[in-house]
Amino acid sequence: MAGKLVCWHCGEAIGDTPKPFPRLFKCRNCEADLHVCLMCRHYNPRYSTKCDHELAEAAREIDLANFCHYIKLKPNAFVEKDYDQGKQAEAKLKALFGDTAEESSDTKEEVIDDPMEKLKSLFANQDLEK
Ligand SMILES: [Zn+2]
Repeated sequence: MAGKLVCWHCGEAIGDTPKPFPRLFKCRNCEADLHVCLMCRHYNPRYSTKCDHELAEAAREIDLANFCHYIKLKPNAFVEKDYDQGKQAEAKLKALFGDTAEESSDTKEEVIDDPMEKLKSLFANQDLEK
């Protein structure tokens, strides 16, 4: 399995889990329920049922322990809420320019470490495309 299992709520590493995965398994750090849709590979907010498993029941509370038999834990379930400033700037650029900022950084050959230089280059690319 690629990546490691972490708590969806606080990012704490979960490590080895008992099998079958106990329904009332909680994070040792924040005590969030871990037998939850948010930890599951089948969780998919694009579906009306929030689940892409054809046999599983529709998700109700995605962050509370569920009775689902089809839960399949996914690694890296933690979604960071406190972005650092660099990420905020990146997010703002993406919001402004759509996907172009991401594409241009992907195709760039040299890696720019300085955030200000990165910003400048992103804006420079944008000007060239106009
Ligand atoms: Zn936690």
